[in-house]
This record gives sequence, C-alpha cells and structure tokens, in this order.
Amino acid sequence: MATADVAVVGAGLAGLTAAIRLAEAGARVHVLAAGHATTHWAPGGIDLGALPDSRTSQEAIDRLAMVPGHPYGVLAAELPAALAWLRAVLAREGFELEGAPGDPLRAIPTAIGATRLAALLPAGMAGALPAWAPDETLVVCGPAGFRDFWPEAIAGALRRPSSWRGQTPPGRIEAVSVELPGLAGRRNLSSLDLARLFDDPAWRRAALEGIARAVAARSRAPGRVALPAILGLNDHPAALAAAREILPLLPFEVALAPPSVPGLRLYAVLRGALRRHGGRLQVGEAVHGTIDAAGRVAELRAPAAAREFVLSAGAVVLATGGIAGGGIVADGPATLREEVLGLPVDGPPAGNWLSDDALSPAGHPLETAGIRTDRHLRPVAPAGSTADGRPIAENVRVAGSLLAGQRYLRERCGDGVALASGVLAARKLAGVAR
Ligand SMILES: Cc1cc2nc3c(=O)[nH]c(=O)nc-3n(C[C@H](O)[C@H](O)[C@H](O)COP(=O)(O)OP(=O)(O)OC[C@H]3O[C@@H](n4cnc5c(N)ncnc54)[C@H](O)[C@@H]3O)c2cc1C
Repeated sequence: MATADVAVVGAGLAGLTAAIRLAEAGARVHVLAAGHATTHWAPGGIDLGALPDSRTSQEAIDRLAMVPGHPYGVLAAELPAALAWLRAVLAREGFELEGAPGDPLRAIPTAIGATRLAALLPAGMAGALPAWAPDETLVVCGPAGFRDFWPEAIAGALRRPSSWRGQTPPGRIEAVSVELPGLAGRRNLSSLDLARLFDDPAWRRAALEGIARAVAARSRAPGRVALPAILGLNDHPAALAAAREILPLLPFEVALAPPSVPGLRLYAVLRGALRRHGGRLQVGEAVHGTIDAAGRVAELRAPAAAREFVLSAGAVVLATGGIAGGGIVADGPATLREEVLGLPVDGPPAGNWLSDDALSPAGHPLETAGIRTDRHLRPVAPAGSTADGRPIAENVRVAGSLLAGQRYLRERCGDGVALASGVLAARKLAGVAR
C-alpha cells in the first residue's frame, strides 16, 4: 500500500496547484488522475473572469464574488497571492505570464478568425494584448498545408469589424502561408509535430527566416504577426526569443484546436515543479474512495495492472473538474453523480439539464453542477437535509471546477477559481501528516 500525507485527485490547474503548494510546504503528496486535464484542451491563457459587459477581469471577479454561493465569494481574496505564486513558479522555468486582472480585457484573435476576451496570457501569446493602433498591420501567417490554421480564412473573418467586439481593429490585415523547411507538400501536419520541429535550433532558424521574408513582403512596421501556437514544445522560451529576434514584426501565438500546445507547456512546468518538490503524479485510472463512519476518507483505490492500487492518506484534495472534467457524471434519467466519493451534487433539476439553444449565451445548464462546500472547502450536506451546510468529510477539500455555484465557461472564471481554490485547499491542509 502506498502512503502520502495528502492525496490529490485530478491533474488540472486546481489539483496541481494544491499539490505543488503542499509539496513546497514539506507534505508528502501523491496526485492521482484518470487522465489529462483541461490544460490539454483549453487555449492556454489564465482566465480569471470575463462577463459580457465587464471591462476588466477584476471587475468580473468583484461582481461574481457578490453572487450568492459563487466560489469567488470565498476565493476572490486568495487570488492576488495565488497569481503571484503562479507567476513565480512559471518564471523559474523561463515562462512569463503577461497582463494583470486590472488590465482591460482585449479581443484576442482565434484560429477560426473570431476573437476571445483575455487579459492574462503566456508571453508567447501576449503580443496580442496591447490595443491596436489604426496604422498597425496584422499579418496572419501559417505553415502551408497546416489544416488547423488557414491564414486567408482567419484574415478574412478578422477583417469584419464586428469580429473585434467594439474594440479598435488593426488598420490592415494581411494573410500569408509559408512553406517550412522539409515540409513542402505535407498536408497532415499536426501542431505537436510543428512545435517539436521549432524545438530544434537549426530548423527553427531556417523556418523563421522563411517566415520573416514572407512577412516582410506583406508589411512594414508598425505591425504584428499572428502565428499558430507552435513555437516550441519543450524549448518554447528559446523558440519565442528566436522568433522575436528574427521576425520583422512582433510575433504572437494564436491558440489552435486541441491538443493545446500552450496548455501542454503549462502542464509540463507544473509537473516539473511538483516533482522537484518530491511530489508524485500518476495518470491513467479513475479513483474511488469512501467516507468512513468518522466522516473521514482514509484511502483511495484505483485499478492497476496486477492488483488494485491503494493509497492511504491523511487528507484528500478533490479536484476532478466537475462535469467538464469528468468528476461529475449525469447518469440515467435523473442523477448527477460525484465519481470519487459519491458526494451530494448541487445542480439543476433533471428537467432543466438541457437547453433548447445549443449556443445559448447563458451557457449550458449542467455547467452549474458542483459540490457545495463551507469556507474551508470541505464538502457539506445538501440543502434541505437535516445536516444542511455541515461538513460531511472532515479531511477532504474540494477545488476547481468541481466547486458548485460557478459557470466556469460562461463566466470565464474557471482558471481563477482553480488556482485560488488549489492554494486555499493547500493552506487548509498544511501540517497534515498521516
Ligand atoms: C475543453 C474545455 C475548455 C475550457 N476552456 C476554458 C477557458 O477557456 N476558460 C476558463 O476559464 N475555463 C475553461 N474551462 C473550464 C476549466 O474546467 C477550468 O478553466 C479549469 O482549468 C479547470 O481546472 P480543474 O483542475 O478544476 O479541472 P480539470 O482541468 O478538468 O481537471 C480534472 C482532472 O480530474 C481528473 N479526474 C476526473 N474524474 C476523475 C476520477 N474519477 N478519478 C481520478 N481523476 C479524475 C481528470 O482526469 C483531470 O486530470 C474549460 C474546460 C474544458 C473542458
């Protein structure tokens, strides 16, 4: 049987944040996850909050904190320190996060030629954050034959003023496709293949020089060049530095369809930080546990090759991502089930699970399903029960998108809630020893 001071279930931003913080504080931490997390699918920025009419993330956070039952009611105060900590962890690996919660939310181009609002982005994408000047040119540039990024289609869509959400667009938008070294005629390129090629210093220099020639033929400064998010997987800081040195315009990366290269970089940095502090990470199997008569979870179980894997721990952080992450499953005709401990789920009644409008601006009704907790992030008994509001698992803390009361996609607060709750869960469990 394996042992740990704290078992963390889930390897997303919430679980990894909690695990690294606990490991930094000297706890023996073991992360168990059924699979990879939102890091591998989402665009790669850190979304703290963006409501349709909020000017800044901070404004959205402040408003969400006033919504009864929203996790930011407890977590908004944690966020500044949590963010400072994340910036420091990433900076140690050469990754910078640019922007701040109080900065204006900017319309950032996407790979389908729309824009999304963002204020906090990794350095590789952050060139899209400053407001566009009317005399600036945006050159959308991608590798010829790369089906996830079509410069002409993206530029065509971005030329529509309505794509820019009322913000000033670049004065001119150009498109260019470039044959990259050794890839002529290839039509099956993936973002991972390309990102790995950009890890090679000799190949990337030749590629960037070709891109520089093509961009220079389309535009002169002032301007910026939008590239797909492929500037290196394992050596992104060096690839980004080379792109800034060689290209005639400031480059910025545009997120692509999954898998997310910026998200993979973030995951790799967080996993590295966890391991450096002695934490363990095991990905591949769903985990189960039970709450004993004393209201504690003493061990977690997962299938393994020869026999069941059992992890005995003094405390548990549950960060399984809610409906989006697989931690909550909508089952049969009417049940919302929390998969690891069978905790009571707070969510819409079965009749309201589905919306008639697949693209409703209100978001998907099931997005609100989650676990209610007290201020210490302990799961509590369901509303209306005799124990309403009382903790039901003393040594368990819930973090991230599993927390009830938020619409992590509609409110674009999922990363902020994950980060702040991961940090708070770790603090609540500091000092736990088996
Ligand atoms: C495709 C997608 C895109 C998103 N885009 C955005 C965005 O742009 N902005 C935003 O704010 N939010 C977005 N979100 C919401 C996202 O959930 C949060 O932003 C946040 O990063 C979630 O972090 P998390 O750690 O709570 O959960 P997740 O990242 O979902 O991680 C959950 C982890 O728990 C594991 N797990 C689940 N069930 C079990 C089990 N039974 N046993 C063991 N492990 C289990 C999973 O394998 C995974 O490792 C997106 C979500 C999805 C799914």
